[in-house]
Order: sequence, then structure tokens, then C-alpha cells
Amino acid sequence: AAKQLGKGTYSLFTESMQRAAVETLSLQNDLRQALVSRQFSLAYQPIYALGKKGCFGVEALARWHHPGRGWVAPNVFIPMAEEIDVIRELGHWVMSQACRQMRSWGAAAADLKLFVNVSAREIRDHRFLDQVDQALAESGLAPSRLQLEITENIFIQDPEHVARVLEALRSRGIRVVLDDFGTGYSSLSYLDRYAIDALKIDREFVTRMASVRRTRAIVDSILSLGTTLGVDIVAEGIETSDELEMLQRLGCPFGQGFLLAPPMSAEDFAEQLAVE
Ligand code: C2E
Ligand code: MG
Ligand code: MG
Ligand code: MG
Repeated sequence: AAKQLGKGTYSLFTESMQRAAVETLSLQNDLRQALVSRQFSLAYQPIYALGKKGCFGVEALARWHHPGRGWVAPNVFIPMAEEIDVIRELGHWVMSQACRQMRSWGAAAADLKLFVNVSAREIRDHRFLDQVDQALAESGLAPSRLQLEITENIFIQDPEHVARVLEALRSRGIRVVLDDFGTGYSSLSYLDRYAIDALKIDREFVTRMASVRRTRAIVDSILSLGTTLGVDIVAEGIETSDELEMLQRLGCPFGQGFLLAPPMSAEDFAEQLAVE
């Protein structure tokens, strides 16, 4: 199609593609330096037991502040970190930092669970379990307080190995949470076959639920499934009080979202714990 538009258009097209490629390369280079340059931080978003007072747990979310570009979104730098193979170092840093932070919040956070996101490439790395053990040992955090969030794409490659890793986590008392549940291709089969302790209903369902009856029925079924299987359910991305009320009516046990609390700095989270 570009050819038909004439020569000038064609070269413009390739130029912009080239510019994009150069941009990507430069961001990749910066990402390689970002860890040693201490450009990463963590934001913490509370998870609540709906209907009960106080916080149930907290999810650690990686943040990258680029010196020239400002904040870069995790949806950009996490896949990139996987591509250029720095995800293991980044993931290890996230895990260690979050575990240490939990301990340094002290008594106010003593009952809270810590949720950490783990990507596919990270969990397939043969050093993964050692890194988890190390983060727990160094921080003194009990394994039963750690919940690792995985997504379905971790099962695409080498599912037998991944299954063994999940079993190994469970045998340590660490819980495994299936994140973004419902958005993949065969969510139910993963739930059937792997050691999964909890799932997070994707925001997409929570958003549609208020206006689409069928979506509400799906959410309702996921909740029944959770009860039957003994799998905990967290609804993510709760933004309106309508959504919250509906989830409470349906008996959803846990929830997270901007309405309840946005991701925040460690300091702000500590302050919030103090007033609760
Ligand atoms: P996720 O694990 O599903 O995290 C939820 C995302 O939704 C977060 O975006 C959070 O800030 C956002 N969110 C929370 N409540 C609401 C809400 O009510 N409305 C809306 N619209 N959004 C809400 P964030 O922090 O940009 O992270 C995006 C994704 O990047 C995460 O999705 C996760 O898959 C990945 N990610 C973030 N940190 C890490 C990490 O340390 N390691 C790995 N492997 N992945 C990470
Ligand atoms: Mg998550
Ligand atoms: Mg999620
Ligand atoms: Mg999501």
C-alpha cells in the first residue's frame, strides 16, 4: 500500500519506523543501566477484605523514573526487560525490596500479605527459587505472608517445569495467585491443573459488570467456583461505588482499585496504616 502512495510517502513511512526502532534501542540501553543507577522504586496498592475494616494485603508495583523521559509505564518496561533479559535482576530487586519494606513497616503491617508480580521469563529461570528464598531469608519475612502473582502466559513455554516451580512455592507456604483472570485463552484449565491458591478477576470484567448482565453472571460464576475450589478471589480495578456494592452483594471476598486506594509510596502507605 505504501508503494502505491508514491515514493515520498514510502520513505516517510520507513523513516518513522526507523525512528521508532532507534527510540526502542535507546530505551533498552537506558533500561540496562536503570538498576545500577537506582532509577526503580516500588509503589504499593492496598488489597482489602470487602466488608471488613482495614487492609488485608498490599501489592508491590514496579516504577521506573527515567532521568530524561520521566515515568515509564510498567506495561512498557516489564516486557522490554524480558526481551533484553534483565527481568531476572529487576525481579530479584523488586522481591527483595518489597520483603524488606514489609519488615520495616513493623507491627502495623505484621498481619498483611505481600503480593509480588512475577513474569514468565523470571519464573522459568533456574535461579528463581533461590532468589525467592534469599529475599525471604534476608528480610526475615515468613513465606506464608508472600503471594506471587502470575499470569497465564507463564504456562505457554515449558509448562511441566513451571508446574514444578509452583509446587515448590506451595511447599514453602508461599501462595500463588493467577492475575488478570479471564483474559487469557484457557483460564479454567490452568485452574484445574496447577497449584493456584487465589485468582484476581481482571478489571475488564469489573468494569463491564455494572452495565452488562452477562458479565455479572460470569463474575458470579467465578465467585462460586472460588468457593467450591477453595480458591480466594480478588476483584481488581474497582473504580466506582456501584462496582463495589455489586461485588459485595455477590459476596466477593477481596477487592482492589482506585476507589479503595491507588498505588502509593511506601511512606504514604505507612501513614495510611497508622490511621486505620
Ligand atoms: P497488574 O499486576 O494487573 O496490576 C494492576 C495494574 O492496574 C497496575 O498498573 C495498577 O496501578 C492498575 N490499577 C489498580 N487499580 C486500578 C483501577 O481501579 N483502575 C485502573 N484503571 N487501573 C488500576 P501498573 O502499576 O501500571 O502495572 C501494570 C502491569 O505491569 C501490572 O498489572 C503487572 O502485570 C506489571 N507489573 C508491575 N510491576 C511489576 C513487577 O514488579 N514485576 C512484574 N513482572 N510485572 C509488574
Ligand atoms: Mg498484579
Ligand atoms: Mg492484574
Ligand atoms: Mg490487570
